[in-house]
Amino acid sequence: MVSRVIPVDDFDLVIFGGTGDLARRKIIPGLYRRFLAGQMPEKARIIGAARGEMDDAGYRKLITDALNEFVPASKRDATTIEDFVAQAHYTPIDAMGDAGWKDLAALMRPDVIRAFYFSVGPRLFGPLAERLHDHKIADDDSRIVVEKPFGRDLESARALNKVLASSFDEHQIYRIDHYLGKETVQNLMAVRFGNILFEPLWNAQYVDHIQITVAETVGVGGRGGYYDKSGAMRDMIQNHLMQLLCLIAMEPPSHFDPDAVRDEKLKVIRALDPVERDEIVRGQYRADDGSPSYIEDSENPKSTTESFIAMRVHVSNWRWKGTPIYLRTGKKLRARASEIAVVFKDPPHSIFGPQEGRRGNVLVIRLQPDEGMNLRVTIKEPGPGGMRLIEVPLDMSFAEALGEEGADIPDAYERLIMDVIRGNQTLFMRGDEVEAAWAWTDPIIAAWEERGDKPKPYDAGSSGPEDALMLLHKDGRRWREIK
Ligand code: NAP
Repeated sequence: MVSRVIPVDDFDLVIFGGTGDLARRKIIPGLYRRFLAGQMPEKARIIGAARGEMDDAGYRKLITDALNEFVPASKRDATTIEDFVAQAHYTPIDAMGDAGWKDLAALMRPDVIRAFYFSVGPRLFGPLAERLHDHKIADDDSRIVVEKPFGRDLESARALNKVLASSFDEHQIYRIDHYLGKETVQNLMAVRFGNILFEPLWNAQYVDHIQITVAETVGVGGRGGYYDKSGAMRDMIQNHLMQLLCLIAMEPPSHFDPDAVRDEKLKVIRALDPVERDEIVRGQYRADDGSPSYIEDSENPKSTTESFIAMRVHVSNWRWKGTPIYLRTGKKLRARASEIAVVFKDPPHSIFGPQEGRRGNVLVIRLQPDEGMNLRVTIKEPGPGGMRLIEVPLDMSFAEALGEEGADIPDAYERLIMDVIRGNQTLFMRGDEVEAAWAWTDPIIAAWEERGDKPKPYDAGSSGPEDALMLLHKDGRRWREIK
């Protein structure tokens, strides 16, 4: 299969925080891969900007080291890396002060797309937007890319939206949620709306329930201080899992265009019922042989922050009334696995007799590892001996189905950065979506705070606290295994 790479228009991409962890691990390697694919124009420039003093040569060395560390050896080639880093520049700047802004203004080229990636802490988002505007560095067509976290509650998200809106129009603001850049997540839309097969069944009449799981094996060590102020609800549910929920539950948009898609996602968030106390389980990981507990990782002996959440969510509309959606995310769990499972109802009657039972189909959309989809279907067990039924997966691993191209799925960041340059906001969150998500999340967090809720302990390497299993058991269902 021949990959179609359409080069984007010429651009200057300024990465504020261009020396930081995210830039080195994701943004620069993502750009390099697009360069390697032939998508980055020859004259396009990457301009790193941070407070540290450095010249272009120093920055090129820094990003060469980053590529050697974060790009697999099979994708690295000394000459290509040299050509790529030659397109990088550096300019010292202070987001909170005056230093460096005139130099940046002088550096920008006219008549090319200007994009500004805010890869810095969230308190700098507002000051950066204002300075870009005040120094007339941004024009009407310029784009800003804003990293997570976008606020920590409705009030702060509104304040941030307001600050950004005073310097930029909504069509210039790209709020990134890298889950939306994953190939499988977009494939979810292709499968739902590009086939006749699923959509007629995609409702409460045929779907028993949906499970969305994002499980990590790592703890919060290293960023415990940041995480402790956030927790799984703010760090994962409000954004990533909410976005996945929207894509799985939304109505078909009339067109695949940014506002049509985001309008439909917004309707899903607004249709979410408030969550009852017995529909949510919070957890915090314990110490394990030699590995620290959450309390030790966060260095906060009194922490009641959750490193795990399982919850039952209801979308109150015609399509979904009566079909629960279960969300689950946590750290230090059994395996690193993210998936969405649509569990269909059992067939109404088994013609094969009661001993064969009735089996529902399950469509699993795997985000990681091994991106792909599989549909569990019932077939006859081969061989003589009567009509015995078994379940087999109709498997579509992208790596297998698409050959070399499938094995080389673009990382979410590289796709999203190219979308910014192309001016396509479909896979970015709109301001009202983010606010609606906080409006739903805030009362849940407030209720915990009010009653001094303490998360349930769970073992590292487990599937979370016992109560999380019970959440489904009492509904007569069970979680899929985390593997
Ligand atoms: P980081 O490693 O601490 O890097 C911060 C960058 O910002 C550095 O380049 C720093 O350089 C620069 N900086 C700090 N203060 C500045 C100022 N006043 N003016 C200009 N530049 C300044 O942080 P990070 O992990 O890359 O995270 C960046 C953003 O991405 C954060 O919002 C984070 O929440 C988000 N994020 C990160 C990850 C990740 O995996 N790292 C994942 C998702 C989201 P100087 O100190 O030299 O100025």
